[in-house]
Amino acid sequence: MSFESPREPARRSLAVQCCIVGGGPAGMMLGYLLGRSGIKTVVLEKHADFFRDFRGDTVHPSTLQVMQELGLLEDFLKIPHQQLTHMQGMFGKTPIRIADLSRLETTCPFIALMPQWDFLNFLETKGARFPSLQILKNTEAIELVRDGSLITGVVAKVPDGTLQISADLTVACDGRHSIIREQAGLKVENIGAPIDVLWFRVGKSKADSDGIFARLQRGQMIVTIDRDDYWQCAYVISKGKIDDIKARGLDAFRDSVTSLAPILRPRIGDVRNWGDVNLLTVRIDRLTRWALPGLLCIGDAAHAMSPVGGVGVNLAVQDAVAAANLLFDKFSNGGPSLEDLEQVQRRRLFPARMTQTMQTVIQDNIINRALSGEDLKPPLVARLITAIPWLQGQTARLLGIGVRPEHVHSAQRL
Ligand SMILES: Cc1cc2nc3c(=O)[nH]c(=O)nc-3n(C[C@H](O)[C@H](O)[C@H](O)COP(=O)(O)OP(=O)(O)OC[C@H]3O[C@@H](n4cnc5c(N)ncnc54)[C@H](O)[C@@H]3O)c2cc1C
Repeated sequence: MSFESPREPARRSLAVQCCIVGGGPAGMMLGYLLGRSGIKTVVLEKHADFFRDFRGDTVHPSTLQVMQELGLLEDFLKIPHQQLTHMQGMFGKTPIRIADLSRLETTCPFIALMPQWDFLNFLETKGARFPSLQILKNTEAIELVRDGSLITGVVAKVPDGTLQISADLTVACDGRHSIIREQAGLKVENIGAPIDVLWFRVGKSKADSDGIFARLQRGQMIVTIDRDDYWQCAYVISKGKIDDIKARGLDAFRDSVTSLAPILRPRIGDVRNWGDVNLLTVRIDRLTRWALPGLLCIGDAAHAMSPVGGVGVNLAVQDAVAAANLLFDKFSNGGPSLEDLEQVQRRRLFPARMTQTMQTVIQDNIINRALSGEDLKPPLVARLITAIPWLQGQTARLLGIGVRPEHVHSAQRL
């Protein structure tokens, strides 16, 4: 890096082969893989750490398989986590079974539930041994840099000024509010999501456990994630209804929550005011083009996922594995060509489209209908899955492994 006068806001520069914008699951996995292949790579993360709560907590069997292929699984599973083998729910008063992951023939037939910051911190720690990988926190990409039609890097805001990064390839992994895809002028197809999520914590004793993951009642839905000494709660609401909920008051909100999930009653007082309840906006969208010369978008930046099925993290990781597989050996002559980058879209568009279709079918036909107070009988498909264990294995495949799982083929060059 070059430095200018220490009194002026610093304007520094850095030249790399690959600049990854965003240290979420897509960006951290791609950074790890390219660093492992000896590609000079920088990952920019705008926050100072990974300790934020808007992320998914699910590490799926196919991501665990990737960890195994990277030789990281044993250490990874030493991080405290819960192993979810069965996905069950309550539809009104009727118990339903959504998926039986123990039927999967894979190294880890379960979803590892752990706060996502543990997953990202783990990748950062393990990636520290690759001299070609740099992870810069407190570094926010604010501007794409172009040379004609070629994207040549970004300008980032750093605590004491700016950092100009030139790169043979810039990869947007900056999530569903990606500024990189916006600045690149890439067209977004909005698929729509009729729901938003209220995200809050309620304390628990370590001994409390609950086999029920999701509960749906007329007009309400909640998912409770066991984080050992507290429940991470996702209360699903119809889009735009937050003001109505607030108008009814905090007590009414607490009552709705505990009537839906009685296990939360003893510590619901932990929700002391509306400041303890975060609104997370949900969207489903997809870029029509994921690449331009010098630029590729993956993860939510290419296809924003809703929380339905808890599959967005896995999809982001799988995109990263595919991108590394297809691109790691294309950096020797000035970086991957547009044709190389389009290969990534060709490989990953189908899984993204299929998964988003599954999410919209569930959102529109089950969650949204129930939230609007309609018919609360479990739909036929849910009753069939509950009755037929073989079908629970098929849904486990769809949710836990996903469409077109990726395996690591990029080289390790240390
Ligand atoms: C309410 C909600 C709950 C969800 N729950 C789950 C779940 O349980 N399981 C699941 O699998 N999926 C879940 N999802 C979907 C999941 O969060 C996403 O699909 C997944 O996080 C996508 O990963 P990503 O790496 O592409 O993007 P992100 O996880 O969004 O990461 C983007 C990263 O880029 C950083 N960043 C953004 N802009 C910049 C910038 N300009 N410069 C530098 N850094 C930047 C951000 O700080 C962030 O760290 C949920 C989604 C929502 C909305």
